[in-house]
Amino acid sequence: MPDGSAPATVILQKSCGATSPPSNVGNPHIATLSAAFQCSQRSSSPGAVTAVTAGADTVRSRPAVRPAERLDESSRSATVAPMPDNVLTRLRVKPGSNFSVKRRNPDERFGWDKDAAKAELAQLHVRIDALQQRLAAQRTHSLLVVLQAMDACGKDGTIRSVFGAMNPAGVKVHSFKAPAGSETDHDFLWRVHNVVPARGEIAVWNRSHYEDVLVVRVKGLLPKHQWERRYRHIREFERLLVDEGTRIAKINLNVSFVEQGLRLQDRIDDPRERWKFRIGDLDDRKLWPEYMKAYDQAICETSTEHSPWYVVPGNRKWVRNLAVAKILLHELQQLDPQLPPDDPAIAGLHVV
Ligand code: AMP
Ligand code: MG
Repeated sequence: MPDGSAPATVILQKSCGATSPPSNVGNPHIATLSAAFQCSQRSSSPGAVTAVTAGADTVRSRPAVRPAERLDESSRSATVAPMPDNVLTRLRVKPGSNFSVKRRNPDERFGWDKDAAKAELAQLHVRIDALQQRLAAQRTHSLLVVLQAMDACGKDGTIRSVFGAMNPAGVKVHSFKAPAGSETDHDFLWRVHNVVPARGEIAVWNRSHYEDVLVVRVKGLLPKHQWERRYRHIREFERLLVDEGTRIAKINLNVSFVEQGLRLQDRIDDPRERWKFRIGDLDDRKLWPEYMKAYDQAICETSTEHSPWYVVPGNRKWVRNLAVAKILLHELQQLDPQLPPDDPAIAGLHVV
């Protein structure tokens, strides 16, 4: 790892009743946030009837609206029967269809207005966040979102703009690079299976096991008979995850060749963006037609009822963000997470 790039870790130490010190003493890259967190959590935990702050005699009365009820209210419309959304049907790739990315317009705006779309995105953020809280509280199901796109085509921006609305404690983002170390000593699904979302979690994959039928095919890293059978492996792997309680949405950000060129040029020209550019990105750009062919086949082979592909127009970032937020909301609505039932032992308790 280059100098100065050591990862920083922030530990939140909840110190109500905690006696042991944090184990990060002496590590300059770990910051412990403790004091501000002390006890204040209690007043916001769902189900709290009264809460003690400093001493046993300081009792705060029950808030007018309990956080759990606020959660209910903000997500009510999100958890009843979802509104049919024509845009989602247009984004989804019908299983068994003869899909080709060429037939999708990366400039599509679905008749949306930019300002209205931004306002709607903010509203969807609130509903998505409320559903994610329920998913985490219920801890029975999980959601996996796979993001695939060419370089500079918006994977990172989508993660920041759409998934950044949720509590980071319940969302895990994984970026997959070329396999290295022990990854190369295992089957291609080993490294992804290792980071599938746990019950209650949302995982977002920036690139994925699909690279093993995209870059591997386009660059001839393996013979055809080896990558070709992977479509079946992928279908079966995803079926396993779905059977075990994971919902899967796979999203391809569809940016035009011209737009990718402009974005790569921006990365080269802007010193703040330059770190994202690799010379190798230009080699991949030269192979654009081969990549599109590989995307077409991968999407056709693996868009299933239980694990669909969505192809999102990516030339306009605001269209992309709203479209992905709609997909995310829809997937969470389908999971329909519910708060777990109250523990009867808690009913009527007064904390003094
Ligand atoms: P980036 O996402 O721009 O940081 O680049 C990651 C690079 O890793 C891309 O060039 C991917 O094609 C490459 N990559 C990811 N997964 C694989 C894989 N399974 N095999 C080969 N290359 C991969
Ligand atoms: Mg790159």
